[in-house]
Parts: sequence; C-alpha cells; structure tokens
Amino acid sequence: MGMISIALSKGRILGETLPLLAHVGLRPRENPDASRKLIIGTERRGVRLIVVRASDVPTYVGHGAAELGVAGGDVLAEHGGAGLYQPVDLGVARCRMMVAARRGFDYEAAVRQGARLRIATKYVRIAREHFAAKGVHVDLIKLYGSMELAPLLGLADAIVDLVSSGKTLRANDLVPVEEIMPASARLIVNQAALKTRRAELQPLIDAFSKAARK
Ligand code: ATP
Ligand code: MG
Repeated sequence: MGMISIALSKGRILGETLPLLAHVGLRPRENPDASRKLIIGTERRGVRLIVVRASDVPTYVGHGAAELGVAGGDVLAEHGGAGLYQPVDLGVARCRMMVAARRGFDYEAAVRQGARLRIATKYVRIAREHFAAKGVHVDLIKLYGSMELAPLLGLADAIVDLVSSGKTLRANDLVPVEEIMPASARLIVNQAALKTRRAELQPLIDAFSKAARK
C-alpha cells in the first residue's frame, strides 16, 4: 500500500474539516494552522495532509500529486474539475456565490436594458458562464481579493463573490442582487488513482461520506 496524500487549505476549509478528519480517524499529528510544515502526518500511518492554497487544491489532485483533497465548490467550479471526481459534499464551509452591487444601483434595469456591465471578481470563469447564460454582456475585471472595493471606487458596476452572513457586503454599502450558486466544501479524488487504487481509497471516501455534515 502506498502513501495517500490529502490536499487541503488552511483557514476556513481546514477549520471546518478538522472535525470530519477526526471522525474519519485522520487527526493531524500537529496543528496545521500553527505549524510551518506543509506536509503533516495523520494518526493513520500512510495517510498525510498536504497544505496548499485553497485555489491550488484541484490542481494538486487533478494532476495526481495528491490522491484526495478538500476544496470549496466555488474553487471547483472556477477550476473546471478536469481529472477529478467529486464524490462527497462535506456540507461545511457553506456559502453562496452572489452578484452584489452598490445599494441604489438598479441591477435589474441594467440587465433589462442590455447595458454592458463591468464585473470585478476573482471568479472570472464562473462570472463569464453566468452572464453568458443570461445573455448579458460583461467586461470582466480580474481581482485577487477585496472585491468589495471595486464598485465603491468606480472600478466596476458589480462584483461576483462568496457571501455567507452578508456582513462584509453590508459594511461596505453593497447588497446582493442575484444568487449564482450555493457552494460548500467537497471531497475530491484523482480519477486515475481511484481506478488503480480503489481498494485503498474507497473505504476513505465511504468514511468521509458517513462523516459529512448533512
Ligand atoms: P487564499 O487565502 O489562499 O487566497 P481564500 O481566501 O479563498 O484563499 P479562504 O478564505 O480560507 O481562502 O476560503 C477558502 C474556501 O472557504 C473558499 O474557497 C470557500 O469555499 C470557503 N469560503 C470562503 N468564504 C466563505 C464564507 N464567507 N463562508 C463560508 N465559506 C467560505
Ligand atoms: Mg484568504
């Protein structure tokens, strides 16, 4: 039996996935949030955690550098999911991908009138597909964070971003105007690895499925 690597990111995904890892018998040998190590053993011999950026998780697993991973539905939609199975919705890190605009901006009217909308987002692919499906012409402006600033400074008419409580939007005088999709963390599996190492991987997938937050 070879080593099994599980890719996940620090922060929210790790915080909400740790209880599930405990259920599955994969408690990390040290606290990944505190440790500077990027490869961390678990209580199960032969299974280790790989700590990567949230948006890099599908890349590691898609290329087979890690057999398993935990990634947000938002990150998976933006990545496209090539080479991946997504067998388990873990039900944690729940949020919604939304279009948001400045309070007072008439989004419905702008869409109805066929105006060309300027949309700032980290999620260029999700935004492009969403507006193409609606037949709305958009100019997409790629940002890497703090999207809420863009409408306030006139960089964009609206943003596409994750919303959970809506507090950050409200604090910046923005309001959600349309939901694109709900998102939560999912267990992902390298497709080729599942074929060649099913006897090792399937029991882990089943255990995550049992541990998932319903
Ligand atoms: P990085 O810090 O590496 O740039 P990131 O900012 O996307 O990545 P996090 O903020 O930890 O990293 O988010 C990781 C994942 O957690 C997201 O991809 C999403 O699935 C989920 N997430 C992000 N924001 C929220 C939120 N407000 N509520 C619930 N889940 C969220
Ligand atoms: Mg972050």
